[in-house]
Amino acid sequence: MKKAILFIAAALITSSAVAQQPAREYPVPARMSPEMTEFWTPQTPVVTPAPSCDITAPPSDAIVLLGEGINEFVTADDGSPVRWTFENGILTCVPRGGVIESKRSFGDCQLHVEWSAPTEIVGESQGRGNSGVFFAGGLYEVQVLDTYQNETYINGATGSIYKQSPPLVNPIRKPGEWNTYDIIYNAPLFREEDGKLLRPGTVTVLFNGVLVQNNFTLRGTTEYIGHPRTVPHGKGPIQLQDHNNPVKFRNIWIREL
Ligand code: MG
Repeated sequence: MKKAILFIAAALITSSAVAQQPAREYPVPARMSPEMTEFWTPQTPVVTPAPSCDITAPPSDAIVLLGEGINEFVTADDGSPVRWTFENGILTCVPRGGVIESKRSFGDCQLHVEWSAPTEIVGESQGRGNSGVFFAGGLYEVQVLDTYQNETYINGATGSIYKQSPPLVNPIRKPGEWNTYDIIYNAPLFREEDGKLLRPGTVTVLFNGVLVQNNFTLRGTTEYIGHPRTVPHGKGPIQLQDHNNPVKFRNIWIREL
């Protein structure tokens, strides 16, 4: 009892002492700009891939997300029908048509995507043939960009894990030709009770058959401004970015792992 009274008295003295102190001011970090996380050197070595070949047909256990129809995709914002153009199996981004995403959600997977940069060369750096393949409903981007004779910051180049990992090399084909991405994504694992990160995610990317990301460990979300964040999540849709450039896509299929 005596101990308890002493404790309460001590607590009262401490709290009154705290109350009398002026509020301490802490430094506020400077506001970050996009340029603070963009690195331009050394530029990625160019590698000439094998000539473009026909569509890589999906294996028997794949889910076809984009083949003869676009029923597997919706507009990400509101779930409405896709506002991009679709003709003869080719889906073309319509600027300001909005990001699109798969109706189904995925965790660990092998994803095949074929894409082609616009033949009309407009813009430079990030403004040319920009799109992206996103996992977990937009949290992690594998960059799609026309980097054919177009320099940009290396951690935002084609085949980069956006602003986290530059591609090992640049094996892009000319605008109008078809490029392939074969991506192996292992989702991060979070503890159910409190969202603590138990195991980070990893991404491997083969770009036109050439390895450009070798089991890269995700540092968190792929942010345009600022540092990666850890955001607990489960399965999520595959997204394709609308970055105001008419990038074309065809033959997208996925295998759940
Ligand atoms: Mg992009």
